[in-house]
Amino acid sequence: MSYRILLLGAPGAGKGTQSAKLADEYGIGHVTTGDALRANKDMETEYGTPRSFMEAGELVPDPVVNEIVKTALADADGFVLDGYPRNLEQAEYLSEITDLDAVVLLDVDDEVLIDRLTGRRVCDDCGANFHVDFQPPEEPGVCDECGGELIQRDDDTEETARERLEVFYENTEPVVEHFRDEGSLVTVDGESTPDEVFDRISDVVEA
Ligand code: AMP
Repeated sequence: MSYRILLLGAPGAGKGTQSAKLADEYGIGHVTTGDALRANKDMETEYGTPRSFMEAGELVPDPVVNEIVKTALADADGFVLDGYPRNLEQAEYLSEITDLDAVVLLDVDDEVLIDRLTGRRVCDDCGANFHVDFQPPEEPGVCDECGGELIQRDDDTEETARERLEVFYENTEPVVEHFRDEGSLVTVDGESTPDEVFDRISDVVEA
């Protein structure tokens, strides 16, 4: 079944990890604006490049992000959307271009989020995620999946991580409220193990 799933949650809540598992389980596309923007950091737009916004932990302007999502969803037969919408305008745009089967909010305490973000390491080649304490690779600095180099994202420093959480509460909370009002939002405890979180999300999707 070509599910259309939206995962909401603060930076570090586990959206990337769970989206990858959902995409795999259901054979649907993983649409993530963060990865799309990282791959196009120096793309010239009328607002400047995405890089300047991303390095400050700010949101990239809506028209740039909306266009990325529109194209990605048009190409996908079922999808899990991760990192979008991040404000009410984006949420309203999303409602215009698609219908969703499930909206899940991953709930994680702030200090846990900061620990997850600052300890996160990602593979420069395949994008796999690790954590220096919670999910260390077999060999420090080396990806278990592909042998690529593990790096820290520019915006995973403590200062920028805190800024990103501020941005989340200011801009994305209204998105959460929007779906809560619609009655389609289900909250899942994001502090359980990745497998437990995945099982709960699957229950929601298949309900
Ligand atoms: P992420 O990997 O989802 O944490 O996104 C990293 C950065 O990309 C964010 O801090 C924003 O600067 C930018 N970004 C990702 N998704 C969006 C979005 N939906 N709207 C605006 N900016 C975004």
